Amino acid sequence: MGEAPAASRGSTSASTVWQATDHGLDEDWRNWSGSLRFRPSQVEAPAGEGDLAALVRRCASEGRTIRPIGAAHSSTPIIATDDLLVSLEKLSGLCTHDKARARATLGAGTELKKAGDMLLEVGLSMPNFGDVATQRVGGAMGTGTHGSGRTLNNLSMPLVGGRLVTATGDVRSFTCEQDPDFVRALRVSFGTLGILTDAQLQLEPAAELHRQEWCTTLDECLPRLDHLADENRNFDFYWYPRSDEVKLRCLNRPGKSADYSHFARLTEDRTGYPHQVIPKHGGLAYMFEEMEYAVPAEMGVECFRKVRQRIIEKWRRTVGWRVLYRFTKADDSWLSTAHGRETVTISLHQNATLPWEDYFADIEPIFRDCDGRPHWAKKHSLTAAELRPLYPKWDAFIDLRRRMDPDGVFLTPWLRRLLGVSA
Ligand SMILES: Cc1cc2nc3c(=O)[nH]c(=O)nc-3n(C[C@H](O)[C@H](O)[C@H](O)COP(=O)(O)OP(=O)(O)OC[C@H]3O[C@@H](n4cnc5c(N)ncnc54)[C@H](O)[C@@H]3O)c2cc1C
Repeated sequence: MGEAPAASRGSTSASTVWQATDHGLDEDWRNWSGSLRFRPSQVEAPAGEGDLAALVRRCASEGRTIRPIGAAHSSTPIIATDDLLVSLEKLSGLCTHDKARARATLGAGTELKKAGDMLLEVGLSMPNFGDVATQRVGGAMGTGTHGSGRTLNNLSMPLVGGRLVTATGDVRSFTCEQDPDFVRALRVSFGTLGILTDAQLQLEPAAELHRQEWCTTLDECLPRLDHLADENRNFDFYWYPRSDEVKLRCLNRPGKSADYSHFARLTEDRTGYPHQVIPKHGGLAYMFEEMEYAVPAEMGVECFRKVRQRIIEKWRRTVGWRVLYRFTKADDSWLSTAHGRETVTISLHQNATLPWEDYFADIEPIFRDCDGRPHWAKKHSLTAAELRPLYPKWDAFIDLRRRMDPDGVFLTPWLRRLLGVSA
């Protein structure tokens, strides 16, 4: 078990990472893509857990509300507030690790890319990442961020313990061994049960992955889909509406990659550790807006075919952006989009400078007809009445939230509508 030097936690050292405290109060706040704007009345970045707890206590006693923020990559108003916004950016770093059990505790404000670098130094790795690693640990977990792989869970599932500042300003330690239901509720809870300060994660020994990307047509990809998903550790595909071509993204342990040159053209080939080769690094060429729904895996292809048909009929002339098809293993987190079912996610992208509203609104009913659950951080139109039937543990979550935060310190009007909590 190793202990990190105190200086690596609560550090205020200069960073190129997105920082809440770089933004002024006299201007609108924007999320990553710019589609979400709000103006908090106060922004704080506490230097440590004690300061955060005192801040929550003071705020609660004044009847105010608090929203924690990670790297502002969400595009639903789960980060928006006109009251106090709290950034965890100073609660970052590797706190402890236990290589034998493949567990480590990270400050909730740690950027995922940095988490990957620090864990690698002690021989550990997170099993999976999404398309970028610029999110912070608490933010990525809070919304059930996921990558792709039939045998891989979302990024919230590794949470097995940690510390949380509750609505009363108390600090609560928890472990999945002692509080299994609490951890199942907390994993995907977008800051409505409290503010995570330390996250203990179940990891795996660091090992390299071989990444290959292949270009081919949809007609070559779809009949092989099951096989591709089984054969690769990480697998997903992008479909490009204008050309009807697809890009297959496959990652495997070195020496385990299959050869698809009989039906596809190799366009990328490199090897590195998971945080180096699963997400993309460096600036993205364009900002985008996204709607993503998680559907039962057995309905994935049918849902995709309907989405594709509709795009070809109505949107191909105006929307050339890709559609992403991914896989996630079933889990037991109460509000995870993969709760209780093997899952396929299908996401629509549109250039952030172009209209996206009508496109997303037109396709959303197809996702809903397929029993789809919307990604908590991406555009959707659902509120409590529609969400409740989708989640078997919805009522249990709502009840727990009410008991933990009866006065709604961690709620906003938008979150009240989302969760069906009256004012
Ligand atoms: C370019 C880009 C690529 C993306 N790729 C993927 C992808 O591949 N897969 C995927 O699933 N999603 C993806 N997303 C969505 C993204 O992962 C989520 O929006 C994620 O929540 C963002 O993390 P964040 O640190 O920016 O958190 P924020 O957006 O700042 O916050 C997210 C939620 O977490 C809460 N929160 C933050 N910190 C804490 C804390 N310490 N304690 C309690 N609650 C907290 C916030 O209040 C908020 O409700 C992508 C987004 C972008 C912009």
